[in-house]
Amino acid sequence: MHEASIAISLIETVSGLCKDEGYNSIESVRLKVGRAAGILPDALLFAFDIAKAGTIANEAELIIEYIALGGYCCDCGSQFESEERYVFFCPACNSRAIKITTGDEMQIIDMEVN
Ligand SMILES: [Zn+2]
Repeated sequence: MHEASIAISLIETVSGLCKDEGYNSIESVRLKVGRAAGILPDALLFAFDIAKAGTIANEAELIIEYIALGGYCCDCGSQFESEERYVFFCPACNSRAIKITTGDEMQIIDMEVN
């Protein structure tokens, strides 16, 4: 399961940051996940709850902000957002010359520590 390894590395990252700053526990972690990142939020939440056991993130709540897929068309210049996981054509003119600019990222926004 792809999300399990993501959850484990996420816990390692936030635990490392937390310890480096001299804190003892993590309250919550906010994560930005793009719709096209290939991550299922439910699976990631589930994996996070398993991976955090016995770590300083034991009590941490994972908050996922799901980012829509967005981009623009090189032909007609229109910008678009989509709730789909993939976009292959410009919704305005059907051109294939599109650039995806948001929606494939996964990034820690911030975290609350004690
Ligand atoms: Zn277009």
